[in-house]
Amino acid sequence: MRAFVHIGLPSRVVFGAGAFDNVAAEVDNLGLRRVLVLSTPGHVAGFFDQAVMHVPIETVVAARAAALACGADGCVAIGGGSTIGFGKVLAVDAETLGKVAGGARLPDLPPLPALAIPTTFSGSEMTPVFGVTAVGNKTTTRDLRALPRTVIYDPDLLATLPAKVAGPSGMNAIAHCVEALYARDGDPITSLMAEEGIRTLAASLPRVVADASNREARAEALYGAWLAGSCLAMVTTALHHKLCHLLGGRYNLPHAETHTILLPHVVRYNRAAAPEAMARITRALASTDFDADPARGLYDLAEALRAPLALEEIGLPASALDEAADAAAKGTYWNPRPLDRRALRQLLQDAWEGKRPAGD
Ligand code: NAD
Repeated sequence: MRAFVHIGLPSRVVFGAGAFDNVAAEVDNLGLRRVLVLSTPGHVAGFFDQAVMHVPIETVVAARAAALACGADGCVAIGGGSTIGFGKVLAVDAETLGKVAGGARLPDLPPLPALAIPTTFSGSEMTPVFGVTAVGNKTTTRDLRALPRTVIYDPDLLATLPAKVAGPSGMNAIAHCVEALYARDGDPITSLMAEEGIRTLAASLPRVVADASNREARAEALYGAWLAGSCLAMVTTALHHKLCHLLGGRYNLPHAETHTILLPHVVRYNRAAAPEAMARITRALASTDFDADPARGLYDLAEALRAPLALEEIGLPASALDEAADAAAKGTYWNPRPLDRRALRQLLQDAWEGKRPAGD
């Protein structure tokens, strides 16, 4: 076994149906007196309900101004990854945030500890990774101060999640697990969690999408999302997350759907170069009826979730593929298989057409 470093991150997790009822006690437990609630009403000093995807700098300024105006000493972020992203940008100082946002000046604000209450499967609540979009460019960074201090997982809050959001959001979580399995800075504990995350999500998501009233399936999927977010927090991501970031940023594609479409194709790209990770994905899918090949199995899962399967479906023009392949091939990050322009172009073509990955 190779040597490794595993850092357990310090967040408190409260999990279970009805866990939301503990929100006031959990706010007290953090020593907070006046919290700004991001995205939904409650027992609070103020509300900020303008959270949108990709954390635009203008909205960050407005959220920080709202926190200042109500004298908040903390925040409660309730929603999907977009809302939780706003909780994170209130937890870091203006200088750090300004650097991430390309030198922008932001309202000074004492860093506000965040309590996160996720209502999708994005896993963002377990990671210290946050981003800001300024002048059309999203920059992400990792800062431990951005990690929510407490997370309440209550599957009852996901009863209203539409199937078309739930499926891709769950595939986004699976993507965190997949990239954790072959990350260069992965470790055996993270791999255990990643395999279990894929197993739990692949088994429960089809039931969540088929029947939103299935409380047990929602709880299982949310547990998988927690595992997935915890894995993402531990590792440096590779081709899959980098390619999604590139396409999402340049062509304004929806986040979770882009992950859903690309994942089987990236798995196929990396398949021969990461045999241990692939064996774990196959094992995680073994309790389902999906194909035993990891790339095809994940494609079949996305299809069963009635999620989009082709980049064309989510608005990427065919004319963008060459440029996207050029940009992807210029990546300087580590990936199990080196970045090869021609193979990446083929990957993008297959993902654009929504082809089922070949079984070779
Ligand atoms: P989202 O937060 O944008 O939510 C998608 C839609 O679902 C929104 O319209 C929202 O209002 C709605 N919604 C959410 N919960 C609902 C519920 N319970 N019932 C009904 N509707 C509900 O989508 P997302 O996929 O959760 O998050 C995407 C964002 O999260 C992206 O910006 C991405 O970059 C970020 N993200 C960050 C990390 C990280 O570690 N930093 C990880 C994953 C995703």
